Amino acid sequence: MVAQIIDGKAVAKDLRNRIGAAVAALKAEHGIQPGLAVVLVGEDPASQVYVRNKGIATNEAGMHSVEIRLPADTSEADLLAEVSRLNEDDTIHGILVQFPVPDQISQQRVIEHISPDKDVDGLHPVNAGRLASGIAGLVPCTPMGSLLLAKQSVGDLSGLHAVIIGRSNLVGKPIAQLLLGENATVTMAHSRTKDLPGLCRMADIVVAAVGRPEMVQGDWIKAGATVIDVGINRVPNPETGKTKLVGDVHFESCKDVAGFITPVPGGVGPMTIACLLRNTLVSAHRAAGLDAPDI
Ligand code: NAP
Repeated sequence: MVAQIIDGKAVAKDLRNRIGAAVAALKAEHGIQPGLAVVLVGEDPASQVYVRNKGIATNEAGMHSVEIRLPADTSEADLLAEVSRLNEDDTIHGILVQFPVPDQISQQRVIEHISPDKDVDGLHPVNAGRLASGIAGLVPCTPMGSLLLAKQSVGDLSGLHAVIIGRSNLVGKPIAQLLLGENATVTMAHSRTKDLPGLCRMADIVVAAVGRPEMVQGDWIKAGATVIDVGINRVPNPETGKTKLVGDVHFESCKDVAGFITPVPGGVGPMTIACLLRNTLVSAHRAAGLDAPDI
């Protein structure tokens, strides 16, 4: 069997187009333009690229984009004051502080300072609680993107056994809640899990969110299973002498066994920004007391 490759780039493009159309409708019918503010503290090169790409995507969707760049020595109090200002700004419906933040700032305090209704990263404990309770909230972007790709490929996930490797608040735990919400039977694996290969072989869906390059091997995968690779790891490329991106899944061996598989790059990655825009659109609707479109 050779797996169908899930084209995350194409799915994300389609989603962004639909978001763009919904933004245009919100503007035309209610005079509301969704606004997303991204705050970057310091000059980390990778974070600068992420923030620039988010700004471009926000503008392309027809949203109002605000980029706030603060120096690396910004105090926690000053960053929280900036977040407070954005919490009060009616033109801003989504706030994202790019992580990691410098050492003098507590990431958790920043997360908890963002208004839960503007928390488009979905990391505020209130939104984590809403997700766990099955109440409408804002869902973390990469987990949401992973779910959309699994649903688009497999269809109904009800009754399927999903094994999620990784239990971070950012990725593993929200993916587990989303899959549970789709009536999958969910097993969470982590660094203390025994016989991880054997556990994965029982899965209809394997989600890898580990941060270990190419850890999941082809002989861990049941024939026809769906493999969603959330990992992004930069490793040396002996062929070019430079570096390359790989996932947490060994793509070459897994693609010969799986039914569906996401590549890295071009799988889950592109879905993250699309889902960030989706969350901003949702929160702009809710702020105006409107039902969010189901896209
Ligand atoms: P993380 O916070 O470091 O969590 C890693 C998880 O993997 C932990 O729960 C850890 O278990 C588990 N783990 C580590 N080694 C293991 C092993 N040998 N066997 C089984 N489980 C193991 O990482 P994260 O933030 O969730 O990110 C995971 C991956 O997703 C990374 O590659 C990251 O770059 C990528 N990512 C991608 C996107 C995207 O846009 N595509 C977004 C975010 C993250 P313990 O809890 O027991 O320590």
